[in-house]
Formats: sequence, C-alpha cells, structure tokens
Amino acid sequence: MNVNKKMEAIEFGKPHEICAGLYLLRMPLPFRLNHINLYLLDDGDSWILVDSGMNNDQVKAIWSKLILTFFKEKPISKVVLTHLHPDHIGLSAWLQNILDIPVYISELDWEQASNIWKNDTQDGLAKHQRLYTQFGVGGGELDFLLENRSGYKKLVKALPKNVKFIKEGDCIQTAGGDWLAKTAVGHTPEHICLWNEKSRILISGDHILPTITPNISILAHGLGNPLQSYLDSLKSFKELPCKYYCPAHGPVSTNFVERIDEILRHHEEKFEVLQNLSADAITVKDAMPVLFGRDLPIQQYMFALGETAAHLICMEAQDRLSKTFRQKPYGNQWLFQSVQADLNRCPDASLKAVEI
Ligand SMILES: [Zn+2]
Repeated sequence: MNVNKKMEAIEFGKPHEICAGLYLLRMPLPFRLNHINLYLLDDGDSWILVDSGMNNDQVKAIWSKLILTFFKEKPISKVVLTHLHPDHIGLSAWLQNILDIPVYISELDWEQASNIWKNDTQDGLAKHQRLYTQFGVGGGELDFLLENRSGYKKLVKALPKNVKFIKEGDCIQTAGGDWLAKTAVGHTPEHICLWNEKSRILISGDHILPTITPNISILAHGLGNPLQSYLDSLKSFKELPCKYYCPAHGPVSTNFVERIDEILRHHEEKFEVLQNLSADAITVKDAMPVLFGRDLPIQQYMFALGETAAHLICMEAQDRLSKTFRQKPYGNQWLFQSVQADLNRCPDASLKAVEI
C-alpha cells in the first residue's frame, strides 16, 4: 500500500477511508502547520471521533455541513481526545453541546488543561513569572511574555463541561475492531495513542509524527523532565509491530521504527550542540537561539524557550550538565554547564576522571 501517495489528495472536511473501520478527516489549521488529521472509528451504527479540530469559524462551518450530510444517518457517539492541545480539544465542547455526546480525555491532560485555564489567577501569574525568570528572561521581555501567556484560552475558548477519563489499557471496542489506549508521556503529561493489535495500526496523535517533531517543553504546569519521559516512551513504542501509524499531522506512514530512530537521533544532536555550547555556563535564554534561531513570533518563542529548557533539564538528569543558580540581574536563573568542562577546569581533573 502506498500510503504516502494516497494521502496527497486528501481534502479538508472530506472523510477518507484508510482501511475497513478507519477514516481520516483532515481539518484546516490557521498556522504554518496548516492541517490536523482527525480520525473516525466505525462502530456500526455510529462513529467514534478521535480529536476535534481548532475552534474557529472555518472548522465549525465544515463540521456543521458534515453533521447534516455525512453524519446524518450515522452520527458521532463519542469524542476521544489524544491530548489537551487547542487543535485537538478545540471543538470538543462545541460538539458536546450540539450533539450531546461524551468527551474522553486522560486525567492528567485534563488536569493540565484545567490548570492552564486558570492562568490568569495570581497563582498562574506567579508560576509563569518564576519559570521565565529561571529561563533567564527579565525586564520588559518578561512582562511581554507574561502578558501573552494566555494563548491557550484564546484558542480553545471553552473546555467541555464534563469529561470521562481514558487511561492506559482501556479498550475501545468498535465494530471495526478493538482500539487499546496507550499512554505516551512527554508532549503532554498523559497523551493517548490508540493501538489496533489485529490491524497493527497506531493512531499516534502528536507522539510520533512523520515530518516534524512534537514540542516537548518545560511548562509552568507541566512535567519536571518531559524530554526524558518522551524519549523513554518512544523507545517503548518501538516494540509495537506497527504496520502503519496515523499521525495528527502529516501523512499516514509505514516507517514506524525508522521514524522513532530519527526522532531519537534528532534529540541526541540537540544534546551534542548544547554540550559544546555549555563549556561556559549558559541560561536557557542564551541557548535557545542556537537551537531555534532568532526573531521568532511570540508563541514560537515561548515554545522554543520551553523546549530548550527541556533539553537542558534532561541533560542535567543524565549528569551531562550541572545546574546552578544566578541571582543577578534578576533572581534565581538556572545556569547550566557541561560537567566535562567543570572537570577540565579542576586542577585535579585527571585524578577526578580516574575516580569516576
Ligand atoms: Zn499537541
């Protein structure tokens, strides 16, 4: 099956059969990444929808038309969200309202969504202020980041009123086969993938993407070391005898193990760049342009800072970097330095190296 070739012709808002029991529904996104793939699991007399699309008028118009046509005779019975990000959760509240259907999400992702929702409280502000200061951002730039920290709320607009939790090992039984929930930690605290053992198909969400890598960030409300969790999770997924994976962005693809190896290499290359850079102590802000370039739009800039921090924290946990704190010019910034550089500067470096 030439999956990649077939995918080129996919239109927005037109359900596209991948195989018996599984359809892809591509929706537009208002970003440089211009689309998201939603999936439909055939459950005989209804459909189970995986992810919901961005909350904007364009996608709502597509949904409104589909509800009156494609889903007229055979409606959607539930929505399962792979994770909490706006392009995935965005229209789940709206769909829940008009279709009166349950929305499923993992408990930790729901907790994070709810916490981000409360960003504009004093507590949310203080957490972000502390985090960006730790990254080495201060002064007017810190104020600007804090003012723009509520991007999530602006994009999502409404969270579902009530949700049901889905967790590792839960099985979604459909007329088209069983889909097993598999937790993939890193991109979010509890991202859900769906694995069909019989067909050997993985709905991979943002966990494994064929052409880009998911953002893995240190966040005010996130995991302590998300990149290590992500790398561990990727390695464990390699064991799946996956015939093809259905990602949230990009084509349905067959290169499962090769792609995982590529993503692992991608992060190792970033580690090496940071290792070289950190012969002198660096902050997250110092390191960020080397990994991601300069002049990023505000949202990308925040992602890039968070992802740079995720790499540095991961290296610290692997004992490749040391982390200390600098109080000036603004309090409690993280400073990372290569452990190797520390050793080289020690007068007894050779002795220490032997002891290690
Ligand atoms: Zn995502």
